[in-house]
Amino acid sequence: MDMGIRGKKALVCASSKGLGRGCAEALAAEGVDLVMNARTKGPLEEAAKEIGYAHAVTVTPVAADITSEEGRAEVLSVAGDVDILVTNAGGPPPGMWTDWDRDDFVKALDANMLTPIALMKALLPGMIDQGWGRVVNITSVSVKSPIAVLGLSNSARAGLTGYVAGTSRQVAEHGVIINNLLPGIHATDRAVSLDNGAADADGISVEEAKARREATIPARRYGTPEEFGAACAFLCSQHAGFIVGQNILLDGGGVNTTL
Ligand code: NAP
Repeated sequence: MDMGIRGKKALVCASSKGLGRGCAEALAAEGVDLVMNARTKGPLEEAAKEIGYAHAVTVTPVAADITSEEGRAEVLSVAGDVDILVTNAGGPPPGMWTDWDRDDFVKALDANMLTPIALMKALLPGMIDQGWGRVVNITSVSVKSPIAVLGLSNSARAGLTGYVAGTSRQVAEHGVIINNLLPGIHATDRAVSLDNGAADADGISVEEAKARREATIPARRYGTPEEFGAACAFLCSQHAGFIVGQNILLDGGGVNTTL
């Protein structure tokens, strides 16, 4: 299927690795020029070079912390107006409800709620002016099914989800489409670090920890960044113009609900 987005320009945040990279690759494969971002310059530049070369698109890397005001300003000034925005950043650390005070919440809200909101506020006007735009926010399965140890993430992502529910309906008449993608367990560095944490906590091998987590997923495996990227590219495509403000779960059936 032709996604109909060849020649468009996308900003893909936090994309040198993992799910963000999966989205960047899939968009580049559809002929979309990219501005890619991550904090660490070396891997980002490497990823940008590989993707640009593989798909013959222009890829501009901007090494900056997307959750800081200065970092966002730098990324936005390089990107200029874009047709497609994919928001992403690292997730907050796990813990117990007793661990977190106001500053921890402010940090989590800044990274996983207020950062994507600031990026949308900056880029939606250009999309509205041209009568076309796509935004995909990478959130989490925790929006639909809480992960108790990720209380900071549950809270921040719930806030973003509420914002998108309303805002997506305010901009849809201009051809600007906003949706959220909710990853369940995917095979990225983050999954490896969660497996390592579970192995340490339960005194088992990392392989056993992974096997236990895979057993909780009806698909009996972790998702891949490639699958995730393909879903993202579809939501950024011409075909997604009537999908407004949705929260799309990519979790191999892990969340056990009918709707
Ligand atoms: P990952 O493999 O660890 O990759 C994270 C990417 O984001 C890297 O490119 C990293 O590069 C960049 N990054 C992190 N913080 C950044 C920041 N402040 N500014 C700019 N770039 C930043 O993580 P992932 O598994 O793809 O996860 C992506 C998001 O999905 C996270 O929010 C995570 O909580 C969520 N999620 C993941 C899963 C999963 O199973 N993988 C499940 C549910 C939710 P630098 O470190 O160089 O900045």
